[in-house]
Amino acid sequence: MHQLTSNVFVETQIRGCNHGFVTTSDGIVLIDTPHKPSDAVKLKAEIARRGKLRYIINTEPHGDHWTGNAFFDVPVIAHEGVRTRILNTDVQAHVARVSTFGPEEPGLLAGYRPNAPIITFRNGMTLHVGNHTFEMIHMPGHTAYQAAICVKEEGVVFTSDNIFHKVHTWLQEANPDLWLMSLESLRKLKEEIFVPGHGAICGKDYLNEQGAFIQEWKAYVKDAIDRGMTRDEAIVRLTAMTDRYPMDIGQDGMAPGVMKMNVANLYNYLTGA
Ligand SMILES: [Zn+2]
Repeated sequence: MHQLTSNVFVETQIRGCNHGFVTTSDGIVLIDTPHKPSDAVKLKAEIARRGKLRYIINTEPHGDHWTGNAFFDVPVIAHEGVRTRILNTDVQAHVARVSTFGPEEPGLLAGYRPNAPIITFRNGMTLHVGNHTFEMIHMPGHTAYQAAICVKEEGVVFTSDNIFHKVHTWLQEANPDLWLMSLESLRKLKEEIFVPGHGAICGKDYLNEQGAFIQEWKAYVKDAIDRGMTRDEAIVRLTAMTDRYPMDIGQDGMAPGVMKMNVANLYNYLTGA
């Protein structure tokens, strides 16, 4: 964990999404949770040394953001769609996959039950804890249910996976046009320090690069469609983006698969399928 501002601590160096916590005058708020149960247990000990955990906020529906919720006994807040997705998760399959992440994981996953959000929003919500204000703003793009979490007093935004900073961008269920609009919404925020979903801490200067890459992906798949490629052909043949960015920590070897999912999704999006 690394101290980003007076009261914000973040983790960007382990498998799974970036996550962090904010120490307020009335306890701690955790934003996203580790993918690996053993990391969640370590984080729980670290938080216990600093105070009482009050809430968890999840920024999006992917499992690398919420699997660790289960190791904390506090209410979770997220977009309504995050709750629905967690409740519809095949827990047995999820546990089987996460169990492969390390030797300690299977034991920690015994009796696993997801800690799904019980406080939800659609467009946005503000949470006041002690002397801190957490403004949650729905920003669809990477999925339909992304939220940016602005920690007003710290000048920090947890952006969700709408930003992949210098690591490969996952577009497996993205709406690229809404995503580009959300990048503009991020640009308009007063806060300047971004904790991206993946990759190192960044600022607004990265928004152009993230946006250009989404545009490039869209143009790349559109060109294949315009040349008459079928979806199956495009999935096999469009491989040029594979090495544009490194994969994030713990995702080695996954680039070709991500590439195929990105192509499949954008092909559907652009053909209205
Ligand atoms: Zn994601």
